[in-house]
Amino acid sequence: MIPLSIPHLAGNEWKYVKDCIDTGWISSAGAYVTQFEQMVADYAGTRYGIAAVNGTLGLHLCMHLHGIGQGDAVLVPNITFIASANAVAYTKADPIFIDVDPNTWQIDLNLLEQFLVEQCEQKTAGCYLKATGQAIKAIMPVHVLGNMCDMERLLNLANEYHLLVVEDSTEALGSYWKGKHAGGFGKMGVFSFNGNKIISTGGGGVIVTDDEALAKRAKHLSTQSKVDPLRYFHDEIGFNYRLVNVLAAIGVAQMEQLNTFIAHKKRIDAHYREQLDGVGDIRFQKVEAAVDANCWLFTFSTSQREELLQYLIQQKIVSRPFWTPMNQLPMFQQNLYITQADYSNQVHADSLSIPSSVNLTEAQQAQVIAHIQAFFEQRPNQ
Ligand SMILES: *Cc1c(COP(=O)(O)O)cnc(C)c1O
Repeated sequence: MIPLSIPHLAGNEWKYVKDCIDTGWISSAGAYVTQFEQMVADYAGTRYGIAAVNGTLGLHLCMHLHGIGQGDAVLVPNITFIASANAVAYTKADPIFIDVDPNTWQIDLNLLEQFLVEQCEQKTAGCYLKATGQAIKAIMPVHVLGNMCDMERLLNLANEYHLLVVEDSTEALGSYWKGKHAGGFGKMGVFSFNGNKIISTGGGGVIVTDDEALAKRAKHLSTQSKVDPLRYFHDEIGFNYRLVNVLAAIGVAQMEQLNTFIAHKKRIDAHYREQLDGVGDIRFQKVEAAVDANCWLFTFSTSQREELLQYLIQQKIVSRPFWTPMNQLPMFQQNLYITQADYSNQVHADSLSIPSSVNLTEAQQAQVIAHIQAFFEQRPNQ
């Protein structure tokens, strides 16, 4: 079986974990947490990093600490992993879904602009939906597959309409837009270290920001809003969202290898693009010239997605269809969905992710490519 995207633990992971166990520092205090936070922040070119138990709850914390709650709305792309929308929903705010660009699969900025101009109004330092008066507090761009949209245009629109920007950068560690790292564009950004991400701590996340006050508050809220370490005094309702030291230790070891991992991912991506170009009706995700993507998970489109998926499963090649669009999920069907042509549905129906692990061998990749070529050769007329 050739896996899709699995962790690669080839560095100091064992050494640092052993250190935690030998010293007894396995839990929520310990030097690896601080070191990991700083390593991720430095990598992303931001000042502060706040570790969290996972990316989903990191995003939730960002929403919560900006006071987003019941009655508010947050703009989220319609093609994303469920966690982005859930992070908004946990606060009782309503995600408003924006359709995606059919080529880049990122939030469609033309559509966003049109929506803001036609359906929203700015009042003093706020943005409101004309139809209902609902306050739109924030926008959460998602760097889908480590690709990015035109961040300057997005920030300008957000600025003009007084929208807070929190980046779902969970897939974009190692991705840059015009030389600036993902996660550093908005007020806050969040990375994930789930098992399938470019580096992994098993589960984990880091929130990044340049804002000292926000960083302090995020840390405070993530540690049960404890004020006095001795007397159990807590000054507001907080959360237990900390990442434990033993997982941060793995994170430190993984960060040490990140540049090598990205180089591997880029090689895998380039080779797939070269070998699959012109095969059947395969179309690649478009990456604009301004973007230096981390090439986390190779994904392409074909009108025969379903048949190809079944075929690859039979060949023991793990492949995955793309996420079901948010507007099609039962709990979000009543939410506002801004679209003209429902490109989300097309991207969802046609896209397939194929094996892209850091440790994918050349022989394995050749096998994946050969099977995909064979599949399309058997179906020349479709
Ligand atoms: C992985 C991911 C998350 C959530 O991260 P976890 O660490 O798994 O909670 C959020 N959004 C997107 C787009 C993701 O891919």
